[in-house]
Amino acid sequence: MKYISTRGQAESLDFEGVTLTGLARDGGLYVPEILPKFSADKIRAMRGKSYAEIAFEVIQPFVVGSVSDADLKRMLETTYGNAFRHAAVAPLVQLDTNEWLLELFHGPTLAFKDFALQLLGRFFDHFTAKRDQKLTILGATSGDTGSAAIEGCRGRKNVSIFMLHPKGRVSDVQRKQMTTVLEPNVVNIAVEGTFDDCQALVKACFNDLSFRDEVGLTAVNSINWARVMAQVVYYFTSAVSLGAPDRAVSYSVPTGNFGDIFAGYIAKGMGLPVHTLAIATNSNDILARTLETGSYSSGVTSATLSPSMDIQVSSNFERLLFDLSGRNGEQVRTYMETFQNEKSFTLAPEHLELLRAGFVAGRVDDAMTKAAMRRYQQKSGYIADPHTAVGLDVANRYLPKGAVPVVALSTAHPVKFGTAVEEACGITPTLPDHMADLFEREERFETLPNDIKALQARVLSGGSR
Ligand SMILES: *Cc1c(COP(=O)(O)O)cnc(C)c1O
Repeated sequence: MKYISTRGQAESLDFEGVTLTGLARDGGLYVPEILPKFSADKIRAMRGKSYAEIAFEVIQPFVVGSVSDADLKRMLETTYGNAFRHAAVAPLVQLDTNEWLLELFHGPTLAFKDFALQLLGRFFDHFTAKRDQKLTILGATSGDTGSAAIEGCRGRKNVSIFMLHPKGRVSDVQRKQMTTVLEPNVVNIAVEGTFDDCQALVKACFNDLSFRDEVGLTAVNSINWARVMAQVVYYFTSAVSLGAPDRAVSYSVPTGNFGDIFAGYIAKGMGLPVHTLAIATNSNDILARTLETGSYSSGVTSATLSPSMDIQVSSNFERLLFDLSGRNGEQVRTYMETFQNEKSFTLAPEHLELLRAGFVAGRVDDAMTKAAMRRYQQKSGYIADPHTAVGLDVANRYLPKGAVPVVALSTAHPVKFGTAVEEACGITPTLPDHMADLFEREERFETLPNDIKALQARVLSGGSR
């Protein structure tokens, strides 16, 4: 399988290449040159298979030429057979007539990002061993990505991971999940600044091409294609459980960087009968506004009850833009350059029409989020985390209930956002057994000023001290 850049100027790479590269050198994102297509018979044959078995069917065509079938099977078995604490891996829970929740929080860090990052860590191991090469992972996190990336990379032989978080600005559970991982290849850095400062530092390191090559810099955020790919799998497992390919299914997806919902779009492109994809945003609603007005325009990020979606620039939207514009890299480059300069661009009418044909979008503020949490507690006895509640509220308002089953993605365990749950539902969620002692564990992190030189010097000096 070959991958091409959305901006049309970087060289095309195989799966191994895109996994180790992350962002393309022309600033674009990698996408498959051709999407594999599954027949109805192939999808029907997934009925009754395990998560790992379906993952093999879905992922194999994307990695062919870079990972052997036997190696892929082994990696998928250890990822989805061992690292998740529910036998179904991604169980469906029924909340109402024809309304379902897809629980994606049974991985080690209790958020859906484990689905991709557990697998990505294994791909890193596999490729670096083969090449006898060292990799440096550098990332910035406002919460869930950091802990999931650290869990995916801890103890891996040829990989060092440096994770930046804004000092004093992540929740205690989120910080502890990162800083209590004490393997020497994990370095947590508290930056004296905001999340945007952390992200700007990471970006500056990636744009410094000589530094990038010297340390073998790689990204673990959702610009890495392997993450999107891993997330395609649970659209297949859930739709097949609900009757695909003989019945279509609609999804509502709590959205920030557009990675998770883009995986649903890929599943649809591969032949899965996905009826409607609903983009669910909190008050950081750049995508909902884009659907409404045709203008993709970033505003000021505001803090909400669903912090993992407090994003005003949805990186993966560029992948969709590439398709909307007929896979025209030059057109994408023009859009993104305008965005770079003016913080905004306007979609051509024919591109907006295509966007509206594939997606609906809704915005949910904090008061509506809490109301949705209470509503589901009352009507089904279910305690949803605030991100999940955003998805449920949009599912209710924008996806017609009828013959088509509606699935809302549950992206985090309620305990990760305990304060919001307490306020809305009057219940204090408890940590699962394997994390019960989280607050007693030893913590380790270093503090750095918001300064690119200090950060680069620290990365060059290697693993933890
Ligand atoms: C990352 C995250 C999201 C948003 O996912 P995207 O792929 O960035 O759209 C939603 N909910 C939770 C809990 C997350 O951690």
